[in-house]
Amino acid sequence: MSQPPKPPSLLELYPEETREAAELLKQAVPHMVRHSIPPNPVHYALWYTYSKGMEPELNRRLDKITGDFDVFPPESAIKLFREYIIRGELEEARQGQQQVIELVDDIEGDVNRSVRGSESFQNSLAAGLAALHEPIIDDLPSVLNHLQESTQLMQEQQEQFLYRLRSAQSEIQHLRHQLERAQLAATLDGLTQVFNRHAFTRLLEQHLKGNRDGLALVMLDIDHFKQFNDQFGHPLGDRVLQHVGQLLRELLPPRAMAGRYGGEEFCVLLRDCKGLDVARAFAEQLRGKMQALRVKVRRTDQVLDTITASFGLALAEPGDTVESFITRADDALYQAKRNGRNQVHPPTSEPVLTA
Ligand code: GH3
Ligand code: MG
Ligand code: MG
Repeated sequence: MSQPPKPPSLLELYPEETREAAELLKQAVPHMVRHSIPPNPVHYALWYTYSKGMEPELNRRLDKITGDFDVFPPESAIKLFREYIIRGELEEARQGQQQVIELVDDIEGDVNRSVRGSESFQNSLAAGLAALHEPIIDDLPSVLNHLQESTQLMQEQQEQFLYRLRSAQSEIQHLRHQLERAQLAATLDGLTQVFNRHAFTRLLEQHLKGNRDGLALVMLDIDHFKQFNDQFGHPLGDRVLQHVGQLLRELLPPRAMAGRYGGEEFCVLLRDCKGLDVARAFAEQLRGKMQALRVKVRRTDQVLDTITASFGLALAEPGDTVESFITRADDALYQAKRNGRNQVHPPTSEPVLTA
């Protein structure tokens, strides 16, 4: 079977010499300044590629975004970066890692079988050796002596071999644990220990491909978090985010999964969710726990602030894509914010009573 052509590597896509590259960057920077785009590597790469003009579709999309938004949305930048710059390379690396884990599993199985085989061989040698110690006739023939010596030597060699096999086995196990840890770390958000956005959306996509009955999305965003950071500092803000991660991990129902979708925005995918009320009850529980969090003066216990979050709900519908599903939850979240924050809002398509 013929293999599909391998996509070009990043080095093949960007072969420019220093002078040419500097020229392209010189063209890219004014775009970034004009649209107040922060100079980070993701944006540099996008606008460099824009100046190069090698991806007309990317240029069209960048033009549209800069036309539509005053501030370039960071999530769009990351999305375009994945689609047009790094393409499938991350996914390929992940699959490669999985293959290595499977390979190590195979080797481990072989070594285990070998160890078992060696053990039984060693036992039969030991039994043979014991039998040789019992003299058959008083005057032991020298041939038997010789046999005993060589059997003893074989047993020693066998023991050494077994020892080497055992240490190889523990090295393989160690390697496997390291690989598994590395693979898990690549899918988790470092601060909150829930899935990162990339892993969450990838898993969500897989779930939407299967049976989507009972899939519900809860999206939450901490209220006035910028103000919180300004008042109490970024490190305390980080601790709030860690606490949210911990709450999510503690409260997640079986088979549900949580991800950090943006800075202070989280998503939970509920499965086996028997209707909106179940999703609402989960979100209300989380809202209550978050509301109970206090910022206090350590010595006096004086309460300085509380934390709240707003929540949007959505139920999976036929034909939903990751984008449409998340957008519905995000719309509901937006309504929760508009209605005064610290509340759960159903899907915007659901009828709601307003006084
Ligand atoms: P709203 O109620 O409308 O959501 O207001 P907001 O201030 O929470 O929303 P906005 O989107 O204006 O600000 C989000 C803030 O989240 C800005 C940024 O400082 C903060 N933030 C994002 N990521 C992190 C992080 O990793 N750590 C900390 N401490 N703050 C973060
Ligand atoms: Mg936000
Ligand atoms: Mg917020």
